[in-house]
Amino acid sequence: MLLKMENTQPAGSFKLRGIGLLCQRAVAAGASHLVCPSGGNAGFAAAFAGAALGIKTTIVVPESTAATVCQRIRDIGAEVIVHGAIWDEANQLALQLCEQPGSVYIPPFDHPDIWDGNATMIDEAVQQAREQGVDFDVVICSVGGGGLMSGVLSGLHRNGLAHIPLIAAETDGAASLNAAVRAGELVSLPAITSIASTLAAKRVAAECFAWTQRHEVHSVVVSDAQAVSAALLFADQMRTLVEPACGAALAVAYENLPALAPYKRPLIVVCGGIGVSLSMLASWKERFAL
Ligand SMILES: *Cc1c(COP(=O)(O)O)cnc(C)c1O
Repeated sequence: MLLKMENTQPAGSFKLRGIGLLCQRAVAAGASHLVCPSGGNAGFAAAFAGAALGIKTTIVVPESTAATVCQRIRDIGAEVIVHGAIWDEANQLALQLCEQPGSVYIPPFDHPDIWDGNATMIDEAVQQAREQGVDFDVVICSVGGGGLMSGVLSGLHRNGLAHIPLIAAETDGAASLNAAVRAGELVSLPAITSIASTLAAKRVAAECFAWTQRHEVHSVVVSDAQAVSAALLFADQMRTLVEPACGAALAVAYENLPALAPYKRPLIVVCGGIGVSLSMLASWKERFAL
């Protein structure tokens, strides 16, 4: 089993790879202001990228975002605007702000530069595996809006590994890719009911669904309890905290799901995430009676 430890990336998840590249290219093209509608790992990464690039950055978050998260983003140097009850309202304001010249909209997952940047984790994994004389016969990653998955697949293809299948993990209640695969077309979930808030995209990017028609992708759904249980086991075994969003991918291995049976050497993308703490893990543990 190989692990790509994206939790150790500067913004606590893989997000800086794609969002960082998008921000970098936007600034190179003349942007003077970055605007990102996310109180999660995407907003955190955009704030991080904006600070590194020395450019004004605004993160628009809904009222449900914890004050501690807003403070963490402000501490990096970004402006935080709290607007609207739900993400869609925060997003509307972000889009409005981007009508100003020089202001560029930074989406959380749906952009080719994001997929291009996220693909670098596979460039690295391929090189690292080669150096260590090991290889992998399947990749496991979790899916929210599909920016991670699109990057992973783009990375496999550009490294001559188009034959390596992908297991795409989601939690029950946030399984928008699974719903699309079942329907045979892009669909929107009526609501999100999973605790894995980082996977809470009601609809995946069109690119993510399109990949399922040109690559061997096995869509699997785990329960919130399984995702939390995996995060707890991982904390004990690896002394590392990850979000349930990441636990979903780990659960494929910990639960030994049937989708994994044909393979011997999985590479798991440990996507990480900042939305986890000892006390949050403890409260989920209690809630799911684990
Ligand atoms: C963003 C994120 C995901 C999901 O990525 P998508 O590109 O939205 O599919 C999963 N886990 C973590 C920790 C993330 O930050």
